[in-house]
Amino acid sequence: LFITVEGTEGVGKTSNMNFIRETLEARGIEVVCTREPGGTPLAEELRELLLSNREEKVDETAELLMMFAARAQHLQSLIIPSLMRGAWVLCDRFTDATYAYQGAGRGLSMQTIAQLESIVQGQLQPDATFILDVDVRLGLERASKRSEADRFESEHIEFFERIRACYLSRAEQQPKRYFVINAGQTLDKVQQDIHSQLKLLLP
Ligand code: C5P
Ligand code: MG
Repeated sequence: LFITVEGTEGVGKTSNMNFIRETLEARGIEVVCTREPGGTPLAEELRELLLSNREEKVDETAELLMMFAARAQHLQSLIIPSLMRGAWVLCDRFTDATYAYQGAGRGLSMQTIAQLESIVQGQLQPDATFILDVDVRLGLERASKRSEADRFESEHIEFFERIRACYLSRAEQQPKRYFVINAGQTLDKVQQDIHSQLKLLLP
């Protein structure tokens, strides 16, 4: 199965991804853990380019195309081959993040994103997507305890509110694929909730 984990800043993606991986591995499942943008050497180089601060302002359409360029490479060289040999792929962010960050966040056309999604992915979609959902201010407070604070200073709360709202509305439209987890709870409780959803996916 192809499982993705999504959320705004400071929702605890990293620790909960580890929890999901350990839970699956304990069941004897081979798990390929990866992330977007990134996941292959070329896609990681694109990630570096995308996330680094530069003088030249990155054009939003250029950013969008680089996201999908990285995704095409990631799919062909890691995700699809792993799924084909029966491994499970656990990916930190995927196309939902593009709808949320580039679409709802930066205001790019959802239709354009859908076109690129279809070019790059064909019919391929994640089998399950965990959305770690938390109050935007609380998440940013948590994230600012890490060294990522500077990067967020320029972004407004409303930017992340739009991203959060986009994730929640996508989940509402397709409740079968998405599991919305209240990530404002204690880590123990969050993991309990993830575990009970994960059990539904196990063979
Ligand atoms: O997943 P992580 O939080 O490490 O992602 C790093 C950053 O990449 C995010 O904080 C976000 O600003 C940015 N990003 C983005 N558009 C995406 C995926 C990530 O702007 N589609
Ligand atoms: Mg992280």
